[in-house]
Amino acid sequence: MNWLDSHCHINDEAFREDLDAVLERMAENDVRKAMIISSYIDDYRFALKISHPEISFKHSLGIYPGDVDTVDEELFHSYESLYKEKECTAIGEIGLDYHWNKENKERQKEIFQRQLVLAQQLHKPVIVHSRDAIQDTYDLMKKYPVQGVMHCYSDSAEMAREFIKLGYYISISGTVTWKNARESLEVIRNVPLDRLLIETDCPYLTPVPKRGSRNEPAYVVYTGKKIAEELGLDEEVFKIQLNENYHRLFGL
Ligand SMILES: [Zn+2]
Repeated sequence: MNWLDSHCHINDEAFREDLDAVLERMAENDVRKAMIISSYIDDYRFALKISHPEISFKHSLGIYPGDVDTVDEELFHSYESLYKEKECTAIGEIGLDYHWNKENKERQKEIFQRQLVLAQQLHKPVIVHSRDAIQDTYDLMKKYPVQGVMHCYSDSAEMAREFIKLGYYISISGTVTWKNARESLEVIRNVPLDRLLIETDCPYLTPVPKRGSRNEPAYVVYTGKKIAEELGLDEEVFKIQLNENYHRLFGL
C-alpha cells in the first residue's frame, strides 16, 4: 500500500521552479495520492493541470480565513460556482484564524458559516483551518454538521475527541516529528485509527529530519513512519488504514 498526503499546496509559488522534480520524488517515495488545497481561483486552475502518471490528485478550494476582508459578494459567488464542479472534491481550507487578526472575527465567522452551508447543500466534505479560535470553530461546526477534517490539528486531545464526536477526521502534520510534540503525540493516541489522516501542509511545517528546508509531499513519509512507530503499528497496516480513511472522506 502507498502513502498519501491529505493536504498540500504544491500549486504554491514555492514549487513553480521544480514541480516536476517534486512530483518525481513523491512517486519515488511511494506517495501516490494527494489532496491539493487552493485558496485562490488562479491557484485552483493551475492545480487542476498538475498531473503525474503514478499519482492521483484531488482538489479542494476554499476562502481562507485570513482573506475574508478582501472577498466581496461577486468573488464569493465565483468560489461558490466552482464548489459545484465535479473536480472540486472538498471545500477548504476554510475556518477561523484569530492568530493574525482578531479584529474581523465576525466577518471570519460569517464567511466560514456560509461555506459550511454550501458544503451541506452540495454534500461535499470540508477541510478546516483553526488557529487560536478552537471554541468558535467548534461551535459553528456543531451548528452546521458536515463531513470533514481538522487539518494540521494542533489543539488538545480532549478537544480532538469533541471533533471526533461531530464525525470529523483529525489530520496530523510534520510537527508531530518535532521535539516539542508532546501534545500531538497525546492526540494521536486518543484519535480512533479510522479517523486519522496525515499531511504535509507543504511548503510549511517540514518534518524532522528535513526541518529547515522547504516541505514537500515526499516528506509525508517521515510523519507517517513516526506515527506508526509511536502507535506500535505495522507500517503496511497503517498505510492501508490511511487509504481507507482518505477514500471514505473524499471518495474514490
Ligand atoms: Zn494549508
